[in-house]
Amino acid sequence: MPYIAPWSAERVELSRLTVVSGALAVKGQRRAAGVLWKPWRDKPGVGKPAFAKVHGPRQRECMLRKLCQVCRCRVAPNEFGWPWLLDHRGEGAWPEAEVTTHPPTCEECQPVAQLQCTPNRGNFVSVRVGRLVTDGVHGQMYQRAAHPIPVGKERVLYAGDARLRWMLGAQIAATLLDVTVVGVPSLGTQAPALREAVRR
Ligand SMILES: [Zn+2]
Repeated sequence: MPYIAPWSAERVELSRLTVVSGALAVKGQRRAAGVLWKPWRDKPGVGKPAFAKVHGPRQRECMLRKLCQVCRCRVAPNEFGWPWLLDHRGEGAWPEAEVTTHPPTCEECQPVAQLQCTPNRGNFVSVRVGRLVTDGVHGQMYQRAAHPIPVGKERVLYAGDARLRWMLGAQIAATLLDVTVVGVPSLGTQAPALREAVRR
């Protein structure tokens, strides 16, 4: 099981959403640095795993400490940066300042990770990331009410945005800079093929 996948015993029902000081609040959950994070229990291995979902606290740990999202090892940077596995976005230069919620994936786990993720199988590209900014929050917006109700699709807001008051944060969204495409893991190519220096 990937480290960031949640288990059924870790789910927390969101019946306790409320409003405190003009902002969304969850009883028992502190607002840290302007962000209210969706609560999760910490019981990996208990119950059933959910491959398609992400355990927020473990995702944030991986992003901030640069740990592999599958095996939790500390990923090693080379001259091009940290190893990442991303969805393929077609032909052409790598998009500038790509924003992603995927934490790094170490080289050893990349072949496994791309097979486990069924919806994206065959669409992955292996890159190295020179720099990243982890000031994005991917989450659900809520409408102000006695019992706040979700509005719209999940989206990304950045630190300092006043709208964060009405967001329930799920995952960190990182902006990837100085990205180098190194290959497609299934083909075993790990030599730099293209260098795209991007700036946010
Ligand atoms: Zn790994």
